[in-house]
Amino acid sequence: MRFPLALTSKIAAHIVGHKLRGTKKFATVLQLEPLHTCNLTCTGCGRIREYSTSLKDVMSLEDCLRAPEECGAPMVSICGGEPLIYPHIEALASGILAQGRVVYLCTNAMFMRRKMRAHLAKEFARDAAAVEPILAKLQAAELISEKETADVRKGPKDPAAPTMAPHPFFYWNVHLDGLEYTHDLIVEREGVFKECILAMRMAKIVGYQVATNTTIYKETDMAEIEALYEFLGDIGIDGHTISPGYEYDAAKQDMIKRLNLQPENFFLTRDMTREKFKDLQEWTGRFPILGTPVYHEFLAGQRELTCSAWAIPTRNIGGWKGPCYFMTTAHYASYQEMLEKVDWSQFGVEKNGTARDPRCDNCMTQCGFEPTAAIGIDAQWGDTWKNIKFNFGARPKPSGRGNAAEAYNGVTSGRGHLTGKKKEATEAAAAAAMLAASAPAAVEAAAETSIAA
Ligand code: SF4
Ligand code: SF4
Repeated sequence: MRFPLALTSKIAAHIVGHKLRGTKKFATVLQLEPLHTCNLTCTGCGRIREYSTSLKDVMSLEDCLRAPEECGAPMVSICGGEPLIYPHIEALASGILAQGRVVYLCTNAMFMRRKMRAHLAKEFARDAAAVEPILAKLQAAELISEKETADVRKGPKDPAAPTMAPHPFFYWNVHLDGLEYTHDLIVEREGVFKECILAMRMAKIVGYQVATNTTIYKETDMAEIEALYEFLGDIGIDGHTISPGYEYDAAKQDMIKRLNLQPENFFLTRDMTREKFKDLQEWTGRFPILGTPVYHEFLAGQRELTCSAWAIPTRNIGGWKGPCYFMTTAHYASYQEMLEKVDWSQFGVEKNGTARDPRCDNCMTQCGFEPTAAIGIDAQWGDTWKNIKFNFGARPKPSGRGNAAEAYNGVTSGRGHLTGKKKEATEAAAAAAMLAASAPAAVEAAAETSIAA
């Protein structure tokens, strides 16, 4: 099966139950942001910019655990900020799993290996014989050092503290926007791609389920994303989420002021999205892409959908964020209050594609339109069968061609970049690196030009 039966059945039962009861608006996925602090400053990230004045604030564990109960969503995406910085992240993830919900922990992966070592240390104290073969595999794959292995064998610092353990309903969801050069450029730090891959390889050996999430921007080369998926397939990654980049107000302002970039050169219009995603349906036959075939048809420009942002609500330090994950008009004290007080007729897109609010004009994101497809709001004849066939169908097999992808095409190949600088500067730096082998004097000149730019 494409996805685990228990998981697919759980979400399907939730939707069918609400439809039978005639519930007009309900949550399918909760976006839970326990904090907005992050160790990275990715280009295009609206969160760290919109909430820049409250980066030190965190939600209480109690509020975090109450939010899924309140909206009833069967799936919780813990995001942020970087959720692994949240001081109670282990208790939060295990608390939501104990509620019987699916957890997607969205991370930039920088702290994943540390969290997995903490889990192994706890397991080692419980059953050393079961953990030793895992440690041997991790060491052989150079995913854990000798010192770290010795630390794991010492057991946990606090035996009573919860850890992030593998669970059938738990997924690491790693942010990856391209191969090494592109990803490190977008996250504005070298070495991040390499750490993501090390962390995901370690996670698969330890026994976790791992997904990736990718945002597509105007400059994204779709052939590169295809190569990325081939590469990830060979690592055994379980699923991929892919969504078009949305032009958050906060991200747009940051881009202009800090990076001297023009937002229209970065984010997608609706027409550009359709062009970028035109081969998505063919991809779903080759890669374990998450989502529904109806949403994929929408992205590929084969049909229109209306927005149902109320089905993927966001809860953060401000409260329940309305009307959607991307746009903020107010924060509400409860999910119910948000449902009642937001004038939903003012947001989203009509069936003919006309935006009700100018800020919705270019939005085709998952948070707005995937639930419309999953719930069957704009259903056409045959959609239910399509969804069943897709979700209960066979899982695409890895191609075995992952090694053909030039995944490490950035700093580890000697082709570094000037993070956060103008495109011309990075291109000049790349040109300088390419000249390195043949003309040392020319390299110096090119490097000076790129730095001056
Ligand atoms: S890792 Fe996520 S939260 Fe952090 S800056 Fe990047 S996109 Fe934003
Ligand atoms: S279309 Fe929906 S999800 Fe997109 S910005 Fe508008 S309200 Fe938000």
